[in-house]
Amino acid sequence: MPVLVMKFGGTSVADLSRIENAAKKVQAEIARGYDVIVIVSAMSGKTNELVGWVEGTSKLYDAREYDAIVSSGENVTAGLLALRLQENGVPARSWQGWQVPINTTSAHSSARFVSIPRGNIDAKFAEGFKVAVVAGFQGVSAEGRITTLGRGGSDTTAVAFAAAFAAERCDIYTDVDGVYTTDPRVSEKARKLDKIAYEEMLELASLGAKVLQTRSVELAMRYKVRLRVLSSFEDTDETSGTLVCDEDEIMESKVVSGVAFSRDEAKMTLVRVEDRPGIAAAIFGPLADAGVNVDMIVQNISEQADPSDKRAYTDMTFSCPTNQVLRAKKAIEEAQAAGKFAYAQLITDSDVSKVSVVGIGMRSHAGVAAKMFASLAAENVNIKVIATSEIKISVLIDRKYMELAVQALHDAFDLDKANT
Ligand code: ADP
Ligand code: ASP
Ligand code: MG
Repeated sequence: MPVLVMKFGGTSVADLSRIENAAKKVQAEIARGYDVIVIVSAMSGKTNELVGWVEGTSKLYDAREYDAIVSSGENVTAGLLALRLQENGVPARSWQGWQVPINTTSAHSSARFVSIPRGNIDAKFAEGFKVAVVAGFQGVSAEGRITTLGRGGSDTTAVAFAAAFAAERCDIYTDVDGVYTTDPRVSEKARKLDKIAYEEMLELASLGAKVLQTRSVELAMRYKVRLRVLSSFEDTDETSGTLVCDEDEIMESKVVSGVAFSRDEAKMTLVRVEDRPGIAAAIFGPLADAGVNVDMIVQNISEQADPSDKRAYTDMTFSCPTNQVLRAKKAIEEAQAAGKFAYAQLITDSDVSKVSVVGIGMRSHAGVAAKMFASLAAENVNIKVIATSEIKISVLIDRKYMELAVQALHDAFDLDKANT
């Protein structure tokens, strides 16, 4: 039997009637002749509640216990969906990560897959079971402890199963009917895309479009999984939603294909650090050791303080997620106290957001940056930091202008209009 992987996100399994709705979608695929592996998220809001309980108990929590607690939401929905299917007359069985087993690294709360042996689930299919319902987001380490894959990780579980079982497709059912040119909650002009290239989706996801976890797109690209995003609240068929696929399957050729944003960013500047070989390593080494995800980095041009001081100085600015500011500050202050470097002042701006435009067409078109900057200027939005790569341009701006900037860029690059 061909295998299909279907993943239902939190809002798609938010209560018993939605679980019934998901069961109906699974049954429709069985009727089409598939053996189905279903990956489920926790009911919407559940993971946040569990994280809140962890943080309410222990500020500097033990990550092993965090994973033990936070992974539990998925166990409930997996069991419930298997039960619902059984009630509907479908032979189904639920699986927690350790039962498959989904073997991962021991990096608690951001574990990566090591292997997914097929034997146990294949044996159940051979017994006549039509559905394996697998708890998303979780796995088991070599030490035998439960791990989780980072927020949004059920998408990645789904793609990993599609690769391991050579599934015909991996369908991600969610609360929007596909991937849009930008988050439809921020711009009502956002347009649904029929197809999007792996590389573009990868950039959009890593720049903040949470419709797919970044790692899931990476895996889909590596293993050539046909990945589809579609609505669990609508009647769908094989043409619904957005297909994430190879670039050469796509006819549309816009220079910019989407706008992504990351709301909660912070900008930190070390004022007047000495400009000498090794200074960047001295600053960013301790930040990395402290687990801070540094994103953009800007080093100012060097200045000489006064003729009596032969040394040159510079300012070093970087960005990181807002919730890592305290950790970053601590790492920098400790490194300074240990004599690794000195600075005059540490300035933190926690009210910034990152807005990015993405498109593979940028590889061959000049002028995208100029157009982006002009449209932000027309809205009087000040740019604080700029970063570019082959297929994206990102800017850091004041958070209060984030929605405005997204909408302005969406207009500037005509993203509401299909390709002509
Ligand atoms: P699930 O719980 O099903 O995993 P998520 O909340 O993780 O769902 O992801 C779906 C959400 O992603 C949508 O509700 C939408 O607000 C958001 N989103 C952000 N960017 C985009 C985009 N470019 N296209 C579609 N949805 C997007
Ligand atoms: N429940 C987890 C989360 O909310 C994983 C997921 O839904 O993908 O992050
Ligand atoms: Mg998600």
